[in-house]
Amino acid sequence: MKGEDFDWIFFDCFNTLIDDFDVHGDESGLCSLPELAVELGFFQSNADFVVAYARARELRQEGKEIHLPERLTHTLASAAHRPGSAAIKEAVLLLQTRWEADYHRLIRPTPGVTEMLAYWSSRKPAGVVSNFFLPQRPERYLERFGLRSHFRFVVDSAHFGFRKPDHRIFYHALAQAGLSAADAHRVLYVGDRNDLDVRPARQLGMRVLHFNRHRSRQCVEPTLDGVAAIHDWADFR
Ligand SMILES: [Mg+2]
Repeated sequence: MKGEDFDWIFFDCFNTLIDDFDVHGDESGLCSLPELAVELGFFQSNADFVVAYARARELRQEGKEIHLPERLTHTLASAAHRPGSAAIKEAVLLLQTRWEADYHRLIRPTPGVTEMLAYWSSRKPAGVVSNFFLPQRPERYLERFGLRSHFRFVVDSAHFGFRKPDHRIFYHALAQAGLSAADAHRVLYVGDRNDLDVRPARQLGMRVLHFNRHRSRQCVEPTLDGVAAIHDWADFR
């Protein structure tokens, strides 16, 4: 990837700059929430929770992000025994507390990311465009790992309101960089997901680099035809 081909770099955050997939390769970020929801008597099995949670995620259409407490409220409300609102509210608080502790332990910088950012930091301005279900968390986690200073801006879906692949969050990022939609070709967009990163960034006319994580997880999708890819940050210089 030649530096003269672009003026900005936009990075996805999770499983690109910060890893949050678990030992099984799962990147849902749910941690032990399914177990706790079963323990609290809302669901018969972890799988039941996961199905209900997936449905709750899809409730709001048109590209809008749904925050974690709302997702959990809808998930628990769909339990077979029709729990009351007080029981749901109490359980949501317990689940969120558990999630905070679990997720804090789970996340870690992606291997080689610090060196990669140190290299590009002095060469190109960069920003972050992240989906997340709690506002300002991507920024806070980047701070925690000493990575925040490499970026001019961090856009997250919970704070902005719309999530990738909706184009509005990409336009918002372009505006943060002082660019218009017509300047999209001046941006190199780097991310690990075909659906959330590669396809929408390509549709908008950005240059795209797929961070293919196949070496750390077998379950990831292959790189799309005609898209540049790396498997390791050491290859992005
Ligand atoms: Mg990602």
